[in-house]
Amino acid sequence: MRIEKCWFCGGPIYPGHGIVFVRNDCKVLRFCRSKCHKNFKMKRNPRKLKWTKAFRRAHNKELTLDKTLEFEQRRNIPDRYNRVKMNTTLKVMQRVSEIRSKREKAFYENRMRLARKKEREVEAALKDLEDHLPLIEGAKGLNQEVTIKTTSKINNQETENVSNDNNSM
Ligand SMILES: [Zn+2]
Repeated sequence: MRIEKCWFCGGPIYPGHGIVFVRNDCKVLRFCRSKCHKNFKMKRNPRKLKWTKAFRRAHNKELTLDKTLEFEQRRNIPDRYNRVKMNTTLKVMQRVSEIRSKREKAFYENRMRLARKKEREVEAALKDLEDHLPLIEGAKGLNQEVTIKTTSKINNQETENVSNDNNSM
């Protein structure tokens, strides 16, 4: 039995779950649960919703370019039954999933390490600014105003940095 993928969120659809929608142009859309079906009916774009695989892939939060992901692809070449081939395929499937989970974990850890590094850098920069604020000319008296301005500026920069990272990674 085939475990289908949800058209909206990309999650697995186990037998007996979800709903199938056949559009009048014969395109078959499968949904894993009513949440995905309802969101589809509301004409929402899965790439813009953070909880879908489509969003995560589009924003480099998931492994996308990997050899192990190509095994699962559907092929249009009919295959004759071969006992030996089936046995080896079953063995290989386990090994591939092992390798894939390992690579996914490595990808995740690398991503988190970079994020933590960025966070620490920003914190250090903020602290530096606070320490040296009295040195800034004309800051006396205006001290509070300046701190407010600088912090808001840094916050803006921070968000920009984060979005840039998302694009560049
Ligand atoms: Zn779904």
